[in-house]
Amino acid sequence: VGVLVDPVRRLDNFIRLWQEGYTGFVRAMELLEKQPDIVDEEGSMPLTGVKGRIKFDKVSFRYAENCREVLSNVSLSIKPGEFVALVGPSGVGKSTLCSLIPRFYDANQGSVSIDGHDVRTLTLASLRRAIGVVQQDLYLFSGTVAENLLYGRPVASMEEVLAAAKAANAHDFIMALPRGYDTDIGQRGVKLSGGQKQRITIARAFLKNPPILIFDEATSALDTESERAIQKALLGLAKDRTTIVIAHRLSTVRHADRILVLTEDGIVEEGSHDALMTANGVYARLQTVQASI
Ligand code: ADP
Ligand code: MG
Repeated sequence: VGVLVDPVRRLDNFIRLWQEGYTGFVRAMELLEKQPDIVDEEGSMPLTGVKGRIKFDKVSFRYAENCREVLSNVSLSIKPGEFVALVGPSGVGKSTLCSLIPRFYDANQGSVSIDGHDVRTLTLASLRRAIGVVQQDLYLFSGTVAENLLYGRPVASMEEVLAAAKAANAHDFIMALPRGYDTDIGQRGVKLSGGQKQRITIARAFLKNPPILIFDEATSALDTESERAIQKALLGLAKDRTTIVIAHRLSTVRHADRILVLTEDGIVEEGSHDALMTANGVYARLQTVQASI
């Protein structure tokens, strides 16, 4: 018991200290995420009582005026609580599409809406609070495991941090690190495997508990144990919230309520894995060309 209690007590002390000084830190992180031209529009309202219906209405987007259009006239609709897998060849704009929901960028034409509200009419703070983004490396920063987790919800209690780490199948490997939750995972800290990093970002999302989740699955190979642990954690996390997974693994798309297939021509197919395999179109071809999608 002594071995277990000590790092946990350290975590508790740490959380209290950190919460006293977190505001400046969170503000710095928000600045990092911000595009200069993405700001609250005049008269914007907070998003409250989120159901999680997401709608793209004839959305077109390019990164700069002299760049090609990445998304052209894309329309889609996702129901509250639905678990949707977005698949397609590399570079077609899957990540770009998802980045329009928390307004990391704004559409050039058309609109993106949540529960019927154009995202540009919502305050950025309330919009970003409603959306959790999980990616393997992005947003893991220099600092301890605990700091990285608390970024999900700075006012979390120690019990909540531990529960989130357990739900993400991360607690056991964190406790096995040299200083447990206090372990530095920055450049001079311990090296984490891709699967461990992803589980930390999943734990952070559990802690944040957003009604909308965007999960960008790792493209790199994971060891079997990590892959299984992440799969289980993802399914737990997707429960009771709208989830969009940019999926690279068959094990993920098989669990999706619906698969959207994005190509350079837009969303060309949608349906379950079995339905799309039977249809024998782009999705079926993607399956046979690549070992994973
Ligand atoms: P996917 O996630 O489907 O692999 P992305 O959304 O990452 O595709 O990229 C779609 C296209 O947009 C690619 O051609 C990519 O090079 C380009 N792109 C992605 N991010 C940026 C950016 N920040 N600035 C300019 N072009 C970008
Ligand atoms: Mg991508």
